[in-house]
Amino acid sequence: MPAKGATPRFDVVISGASFAGLALGCGLSQALGPTFTIAVIDRTARPGTTATPDARSSALSASSKRMLKVLGVWSLLENEAQPISSIEITDTSLDAGVRPVLLTYDNVTEAEEPATFIVPNSALYRALRAAVDRTHSVALIAPAEALDFDSSETGVRVRLSKGRELAASLLVAADGRHSALREAAGIKVVGWSYPQIGIVTTVRHERPHGACAVQHFLPSGPFAILPLKGNRACITWTEDAREAKRILALDDPGFLAEVEKRFGGKLGAVTLDGPRQSWPLEMHLARRYVGRRFALIGDAAHGVHPLAGQGLNLAFRDVAALVEVVTEAVRLGFDPGDAQALDRYERWRRFDSAVSAATFDGLNRLFASDVTLLRSTRELGLGLLDRMPMLKRFFVGEAAGLTGELPRLLKGKAV
Ligand SMILES: Cc1cc2nc3c(=O)[nH]c(=O)nc-3n(C[C@H](O)[C@H](O)[C@H](O)COP(=O)(O)OP(=O)(O)OC[C@H]3O[C@@H](n4cnc5c(N)ncnc54)[C@H](O)[C@@H]3O)c2cc1C
Repeated sequence: MPAKGATPRFDVVISGASFAGLALGCGLSQALGPTFTIAVIDRTARPGTTATPDARSSALSASSKRMLKVLGVWSLLENEAQPISSIEITDTSLDAGVRPVLLTYDNVTEAEEPATFIVPNSALYRALRAAVDRTHSVALIAPAEALDFDSSETGVRVRLSKGRELAASLLVAADGRHSALREAAGIKVVGWSYPQIGIVTTVRHERPHGACAVQHFLPSGPFAILPLKGNRACITWTEDAREAKRILALDDPGFLAEVEKRFGGKLGAVTLDGPRQSWPLEMHLARRYVGRRFALIGDAAHGVHPLAGQGLNLAFRDVAALVEVVTEAVRLGFDPGDAQALDRYERWRRFDSAVSAATFDGLNRLFASDVTLLRSTRELGLGLLDRMPMLKRFFVGEAAGLTGELPRLLKGKAV
């Protein structure tokens, strides 16, 4: 314990106790043991449990699941995770009477495991939080807002609201898309806002979903039906911003009618089973992922269009890579903020997230268009893809997060 009045010192301070920050705390503490001290701070008093709980559910890839399993988080979450065994893709206008399925594929990896699991964000948060709470070397400090920091050859000092300070060897910003610490570090972002809003709600439907996720590409954006446990599904729906505002202002029957229009009749009658929430959508990519004794992870480093459900999976890739490089440095006798280790982290992660951000941006532009020529080309492309099992397997591997140079945690191996 620091002397009274002295600045508390940790090996690593993580700002942001959401998905990326909590997972990093678990990963570092598991790899480096009880003497390695970690603080995870958050500006909200009870992070993840705000007055309006997160209504989203996330599509977690098989590799993210493997990491959560190694960290002892998956067993706390498993009962609420719905495996997805197949995916259907359609591409029609909103008023089309018939919605032919253009592409359908089995969503299982070569190891016969589901490539994707749908997990309510609230359950994921609870599981990560429970895992951190039982880890004595991780201190959760909240509410505490990180304002800025100074780093030197010997360490980093983080200034918090109310005049408090923390000292560390490494500072990690996991403080989301508007990262205050990224700004304090002078790291610029490239990116843009989409003229679209993400609408999320949960519905109950009459007939079983059969573990099949559906992606309807509509001209104003994709409408995804993500199966949950029971006859329920999370809707993640991208809509033109002006139309979204109109829809969000409707009363429940009016809102449900809009959902039904897009949902299709295959699963029988649909009722609302949760609140509706909305998010402005944007793409951003930090120009650098590291500074002196400083690293960015998760949405603080990158934000992608949600159409492929990959933002959180990219965040977990950051976590797994950072745990690996920091652990290797510490085991070799270097300190956790070692510059070479951080450079390796940046090389590992920045290119991969830049490619993902550009791919999802391109897909959004390609599908969010009603130009007849584009529509026909898409239909032809998806129809051809449907007849190419090798290519479909490639896409399943991508969705499962099993391609590229994987950190050990994403292979399901402890560091
Ligand atoms: C509509 C929608 C649907 C999505 N669906 C999926 C999906 O299916 N699959 C998927 O992989 N991804 C999905 N995503 C993306 C995913 O939700 C994000 O990538 C993920 O939440 C990022 O987590 P994070 O921990 O990096 O940041 P956040 O969850 O934003 O957490 C940041 C934390 O930092 C705290 N904080 C902020 N500033 C400070 C400060 N100054 N000091 C201290 N604490 C601070 C906040 O209180 C918060 O707790 C979706 C996104 C949207 C918008």
